[in-house]
Amino acid sequence: MTALNTGMTTLTHNDWRAAGQDLFGSDLMSWRFACPACGDVANGHDFAAALSENPRTRLDGSVVQALDLLGSWCVGRAIGGTEPTRGCDRTAYGLFRGPVRVTLPDGRPPMFSFRFADTAQAAR
Ligand SMILES: [Zn+2]
Repeated sequence: MTALNTGMTTLTHNDWRAAGQDLFGSDLMSWRFACPACGDVANGHDFAAALSENPRTRLDGSVVQALDLLGSWCVGRAIGGTEPTRGCDRTAYGLFRGPVRVTLPDGRPPMFSFRFADTAQAAR
């Protein structure tokens, strides 16, 4: 099953941030990512809305924020339920990683991200 890793893109963290800023500006909440499974395009405000309806906390009790999920979860996973109103339950990590691998400095393990939504989608 070579298709699993087809199209994986690797970027340094600096290049990834620069690409996002070029597309969407410096407000991370406005950055838009496309889910590779269902095609849903979501920004940070979509995740904030989902988390206001379905708040999440970590095991340590800290509250999950929109920017914790943006780019690494499909918004459907944050909306929750067996049939979310949009999106699906895909993440950018786990069995199906990426399709973007972002390398981090200082020997930290890479993070995985969905692709940025293209500018045509971002204009919606
Ligand atoms: Zn999805």
